[in-house]
Amino acid sequence: MQYRINPKNGDEISVLAFGCMRFKRDEKETEQQIIKAIEMGVNYFDTAYIYPGSEATLGRILSKGYRDKVKIATKLPPYLVKKKEDFDKIFHTQLERLKTDYIDYYLIHMLPNLDVWQRMISLGIEEWIEEKKAKGLIRNIGFSYHGGQEEFVKIVDAYPWEFCMLQYNYYDEFNQASKNGLLYAADKGLPIMIMEPLRGGKLVNLPKEALQVFDESEEKHSPAEWSFRWLWNHPQILTVLSGMNSQEMLQANVASACLAQADIITDKEKELYKRVKDVLNRSFLVPCTGCAYCIPCPHGVDIPMCFTCYNETAVTRKISARFNYIVRTAGHNSSKCVGCGLCEKHCPQSIAIRKELKAVTASLESFPYKPMAAFMNRFMKH
Ligand code: SF4
Ligand code: SF4
Repeated sequence: MQYRINPKNGDEISVLAFGCMRFKRDEKETEQQIIKAIEMGVNYFDTAYIYPGSEATLGRILSKGYRDKVKIATKLPPYLVKKKEDFDKIFHTQLERLKTDYIDYYLIHMLPNLDVWQRMISLGIEEWIEEKKAKGLIRNIGFSYHGGQEEFVKIVDAYPWEFCMLQYNYYDEFNQASKNGLLYAADKGLPIMIMEPLRGGKLVNLPKEALQVFDESEEKHSPAEWSFRWLWNHPQILTVLSGMNSQEMLQANVASACLAQADIITDKEKELYKRVKDVLNRSFLVPCTGCAYCIPCPHGVDIPMCFTCYNETAVTRKISARFNYIVRTAGHNSSKCVGCGLCEKHCPQSIAIRKELKAVTASLESFPYKPMAAFMNRFMKH
């Protein structure tokens, strides 16, 4: 196992972290998996208040003599905080579930924008964090993020964070917080944890054409290895989370992590990643380049974003694409289109925008769009 040093506090963190979002039903099996991971050098375990059963399972396993060997990261869901007392209520439940007296890395979960953080501030979270840190109950405070680059920078600047967690992989280099966001946070001295390194498995199950591109390399790697290598090539990244629910996956990822190095990707390899990304883009549903010549739409439709999210359904899980669609197009979604056709006159790709927006609506605004959107919109407002 390779380790990187947290520049904020000197912690040695394994470059491969264990994502605990989905454990197997069989706790015995999960226990074997976690103990094996610890024995192989994994020392960072990431869970959250809202992952069903995860904190309690992790707590039970780590309490069998492993707590001091690892760092625990868990998260506070802002949308469940209605009043100041809720901070303590949630936090103490987490300590109980995790059978621990302190949390090494505590994150505000999925901050979608600055407004949500400001609502937390209005409820007194800054004083609350200060008190918990003074008592040693929270060792490091950070946030996890899924929105766009602009809000990310605002959130980074809004508080003296000690780390952050982003969705990042070679396909998303220019999506979400993106490479610019990552470099911005790193420049501010924040260690960066990475989630979704394989885009929910989509970068593992590559189309044949993409596999052939990687095959041109003299060095042979599995699709997962190509993804991890690309991430570890960034010296700013402290650790990469992976939800490893089989011994084979654990063994393979640890083997890759043992070879992890920064700044090793050659120009030739960069070209391969670019071509694989091109293949993935071609497998997309709408050939939109995001040039934005078609906007503003008089009815407020964010056409490029609608297509970005629709295209994501080809390379990511539908539930993630739907979630991103709700967050990124709130109030500017495809069904707002009245079919005037103005936008089509400006599209250099000659995309039948009206027809494609109908397809977006059918795909991403079908059930459970409405209840999810209502829930998310409430969450984003608060
Ligand atoms: S066709 Fe639809 S998306 Fe295009 S400008 Fe008109 S309302 Fe907007
Ligand atoms: S003009 Fe065409 S290619 Fe450009 S963002 Fe709009 S739909 Fe996409």
